[in-house]
Formats: sequence, C-alpha cells, structure tokens
Amino acid sequence: DRPRDSLAALETARLDWQRDDGDLETPHSLAFGDVYFSRQDGRAETEHVFVEGNDLPRRFREWCEPRPFVIGETGFGTGLNVLCAWACFTRHASPDARLHLVSTEKYPLARADLARALAAWPELAEAAARLVDQWPEPVAGVHRLWLDERVTLDLHFGDSAECLAALDGRVDAWFLDGFAPSKNPQMWQPALFEAMSRKSRDGATFATFTCAGVVKRGLKAAGFAWRKVPGFGRKREMLAGEIATAADEDARRTTPWFTPPAPRPARHVAVIGAGLAGASVAHALARRGLRVTLLDREAPGAGASGNAQGALYIKLAVAPNAHSRVYLAGLLHSRRWLETLDPEGALWQQSGVLQLANDSREAERQARFLAQHALPGSVVEGIDATTLAERSGLPPQAFSAARALDYPGAGWVRPQALCQRLAASPGVAFQRGEVMRLTPAGEGWRLTLADGTDLVADQVVIATAQLANRFDQTAELPLQAIRGQVSQVSLPEGMPVPRRVICAGGYVPPPQEGVLTFGASFAPHDEGDEMREADHTTNLAELARTLPGFVEALRTAGAELDPARMDGRAAVRAASPDKLPYAGPVPDAAAWRHDYAALTKDAKRIPDTPGTHHPGLWISAAHGSRGLASAPLCAELIASRICDEPLPLPIDLADQLHPGRRLIRDLIRLTPR
Ligand code: SAM
Repeated sequence: DRPRDSLAALETARLDWQRDDGDLETPHSLAFGDVYFSRQDGRAETEHVFVEGNDLPRRFREWCEPRPFVIGETGFGTGLNVLCAWACFTRHASPDARLHLVSTEKYPLARADLARALAAWPELAEAAARLVDQWPEPVAGVHRLWLDERVTLDLHFGDSAECLAALDGRVDAWFLDGFAPSKNPQMWQPALFEAMSRKSRDGATFATFTCAGVVKRGLKAAGFAWRKVPGFGRKREMLAGEIATAADEDARRTTPWFTPPAPRPARHVAVIGAGLAGASVAHALARRGLRVTLLDREAPGAGASGNAQGALYIKLAVAPNAHSRVYLAGLLHSRRWLETLDPEGALWQQSGVLQLANDSREAERQARFLAQHALPGSVVEGIDATTLAERSGLPPQAFSAARALDYPGAGWVRPQALCQRLAASPGVAFQRGEVMRLTPAGEGWRLTLADGTDLVADQVVIATAQLANRFDQTAELPLQAIRGQVSQVSLPEGMPVPRRVICAGGYVPPPQEGVLTFGASFAPHDEGDEMREADHTTNLAELARTLPGFVEALRTAGAELDPARMDGRAAVRAASPDKLPYAGPVPDAAAWRHDYAALTKDAKRIPDTPGTHHPGLWISAAHGSRGLASAPLCAELIASRICDEPLPLPIDLADQLHPGRRLIRDLIRLTPR
C-alpha cells in the first residue's frame, strides 16, 4: 500500500467488446468477468432499476428546494446511469431546480473506451460528448464536471467505501451499482453500506439490481429498509428502499471545530475583492442562481491577479503531503474549469509547463518524486534533454538543465482578462468601492464603504489577499504579504521562442505579441507595489540561470536587457504560514478559544462542541503565487458550502483549507508535553 497522501494514478479498466445480435458493441470487464450494462437493453434496465427504482421522475417534478437534488452512485462505469438520471432531470424538473451527482469509480475507463461504450446510445450523444470532453485523468481524488448549467457531476476516483467515507455532502437517492456481488465481493462490504448510511439525507432512497444476501444484510445493518420489487427483463427481483435510521456522521468527531456551519439563506452575496479569488467565487455563486455584488477598491484584476500572463503550474513535493494533494486537485480543476469557461482559448493556453532540473539536487529530487508518486504521463512526466529541447521549441544550447518534469496539461493564463470576464458574468454586478467595516445586520451583513455609503447582503465572501485580515472578524488570521514583480522584454525578430512555460526558480511563458514576460520576484514582508529596477536585475539573473543560452542569444540579437529601462509590473500577494490557501467559513476566534480551551491542557481532550463561525461570512485568500491553481477550486468549495451541496474535495482536504486551522494548532501547541 502507498502512503496515505501519495498522489496516485488509478488502474484504468481492461475491457473486451462483445457484439450482440443487433451488432451492438457492449463493454465487458476482463478483471471482473462481468458486463457494464445489460446486453439486452442497457438503457431500459437503468431506467427501470435506478431511475424508477428511486422514483426520480416524480421526485424531480416536485423538487423545489434551493439546494440541488443529490444522487450518489457506486461504480460510475460508462456513466450510463448518470446520463439517464440527467436526461430524466431535464425532462421533469422545474427550470430553477438543480441536480448534483456524486459517483465513485476505482477503475475508470480510458477516455476512448468511454466514448466507444457510450456510442451505443445515439440519443444520448450530446450528453455523452459533454462527459467525454471533460473526462478526468485517472488520478485518485474528486473531479468536478459541469454537465450543463444546472447539473454538476463529482467523480470520486477511488474505492467506493473510502470515497463515500471521505465525502463532504449528503445524498437524496443512491444508485447502488457495481459488478455483481459474487464477482466483486470486495466492494459490497459493511463499510460501504455504513458510509452510505452516514451520508444519507432524511428520506434518502436507494435502488440496486441485485438481491444478494450480503447486500440485504449489509443494508439492513446500516439502517436501510429494503423491499423486493420486480427486476428488469429476465431478472425476477431487485431491491429498493430508504434510510430508516441513519448512522451518525462521525467524520469530524476528532475535529469538531471544522464542522460546517448550518446552511442559511443566500439570495444576495457580496464578494469583496475582484482578483481571481473573488471573481471566481462571484462566478461560481452566480451560476447557481444567486445575486452577487462584486466589490473592489479598484477594478477586476487590479492587484496580484492583474498580470497580462501568469503560469498555471504547481510544485509537488517528494514526501506525500496534503499540500501536494490540494494543488494537484487544484491544477486539474483549473484546467477543466478553463476549458468549459473558455473553450476557444482566448483567456488561456494549455501550452504545457516544463520544470527544469538545473542542478543535480533538483534532478535527484525529480527522480525521487517520480518514483514516489505514480502519476500518469498525461499529468507529469520526467523527460531528458533531447525531449526537453523538442517540446520547448528552444535549441538544446538554450538550457543548462539535462532533465525536466513536463506537465503537459498545465499552461498559462491571462489573469487580468480572466478576472474581467468573470466579473462580467450574468448575475454578477461589479461595484467599485473599498469596504471598511462589516457589521451583522438582521440575518445578514452591512458593508460600510470608504465613501460613507453602505450595502446589505445575506452573506459575504472576503477575498482581498493581504488585506483579508483587516476586518474585526478576521483580525486574527495570519497572513504574510509577498511582493512580486515580473519583467518584460521585447523580442528581436526571428528568435526561437519557448512554446511551453519554462520554470525553474521563476517562470517564463511563451511570448505574447513579441513580448517575453518573466519573473516573478519574491519578497516576503514587503508590501511595496511600485516597480523597482533591482527586481528587474533579480529576474534577469534568474532567467540567465534558467535559460543561459537563450539569454545569450537575446543579448546577441540586441534585445533591451538594461534593468533601468525594462518594463514590468509589481503587485503584492498573500500567503498563510503553512502555504495553503484559506477557503471556508470565518471562525469566531474568541468562541473557539473559549470552547476549545481544554486543548491547551490536554490535546486529547476534544470537546464535542462544533466550531462557532461568524454566520454567513467566508474567506478565500492566501493563494500566494499559485492562485491560478487554487482559487477556482476554492471558489467551488465556498459556493458549494453556501449552497448546501457536496464539496469538490474530500473532507480531510477541505479541513486543511479551513481558515480556523491555525487557531486550533496554536491552542494545541500550548499543551504541556
Ligand atoms: N453504473 C455504471 C454505468 O452506468 O455504466 C455501470 C457500473 S459497472 C457494472 C461497475 C463499476 O464499478 C465498474 O466501473 C467498476 O470499475 C466499478 N467498481 C468495482 N469495484 C469498485 C470499488 N470497490 N470502488 C469503486 N468502483 C468500483
């Protein structure tokens, strides 16, 4: 077994294809010796067993909650069940209703196999294409897909029981699928039924094709009431039923402080700060039908998100840790999000990112990283000098590195244009103004602006980077300002230029309109945002270390490399002490210190009091210089919480991002040893 926080590639499904009389191809699992769907009529079987078995047409027609209806599934397979549930929802639900699907899969199909399997259903072709286009890499974790404006699919790649135990969200209807219990006994275990029970909403139903004894016993022991109902086709019986006595959700028994606040009304949300963190939250809330006022003292993308180009890339550690899991999830999320937001690529380019091994230490680190984490080459791959030159577009002599990591799915973004696009989303009203104070007002908040005016909202999201702790409610949040400056040179005609983002100490994206941007400098505790010659000098020195031959060629070709005359842009970023972003509800620090005072005496004395939060107050900040990889995922996390939906991250990672983590750590550190 790999260590807990390893970044793991999943084994993809091994299939063979069987042709039936009607010449239809159906996938068959070689590993399990079972079929993915009925060869007789898979779609009709799905409709009967899972859709009708959970009474979905009626429930969709009647659904009028502000939160989405949630379906949970074990064994995503080809996605036929999900596509049928989606079609049923489209047909029956009211226009304001939303659907959220959570499906687990331990052996995802390869993308080509998925497309081939779904080709059996021409009437679902459009929906299938939507799924195939967004199909994630076979990497363990949660992958959020947008099926349409109202329908979201979270694919939890990993073992069903483990994924459901780690699910932060609750389900209204279960599709209990998976290969037959006799062929896949490892999945149909008490732990699975127990996890389902813990994650069931009141009145949650289930349906399954099987009537096996282990399933009946397992469901009953976990608190489900089942009945036999007529099965599909030649199968005489199947099981359907509902939760009678749900098991307690105990995921946060040892971390009660992270218990999420109860959902509250959110018709109008104010988001403070229109950089990438705030603009992506505003967009995420507006697409869920909320009215959003997005405020900024300047303009969208005026701060650290205001560069013309930024690298979408991450650095992953050799030692398995939560930081790398968050950032890998964030990178994969950002890429899928950008693809759906901007399929034409006006705002970003998936150019690939090369991380050079410029010295033997980094080369050795990269080798250990590749050995430690088995990630697919489509996510990250080790390459040699020849491949590096080929993929980069630069001649071999441009580099001093003999090896590199290639992240083919990463790339670069136009952050400022992206912020502007998000701020102009339907449902988002941008307002210029500096918020000075937040005061509770009725069920919501009053925002007092610097010009003396005020504004009232049901809920508030603070996304103002290094200024995020300037409010009374956030004053204790540790944040560090980090100044950063990028430099720019105009490229002489005819020079070979990088096709991928190249990074070592800093980064260099492919040039835009003849201008090469590189940087950024990194100065903790410095809040100056004016341009400095000294930073151009540093950036140039870093570029020369990264690409010595390229800088030489620039000089020879007569590029302007005098730091005194170089152009660029400086801004201030913010980081947390543990270098993970803050994304979640704002803790009431005084209440936490009171409620969890026992921890200062004995870290094992964990009270069962859930954390008190400032009601309806949220934060997305401390994205440092990796906001392109973290802010969109954090935005989904916060929007999902506000709208009472399942989260796009497993519980333990959502907790790692909780803005109260430092408060608890500080209390525990006072414990006498
Ligand atoms: N619901 C699917 C559909 O609509 O196409 C069909 C599911 S197929 C019969 C069973 C699926 O369960 C396979 O994709 C298999 O890889 C998956 N599976 C098997 N064991 C699993 C486990 N322990 N955890 C998660 N998925 C598992």
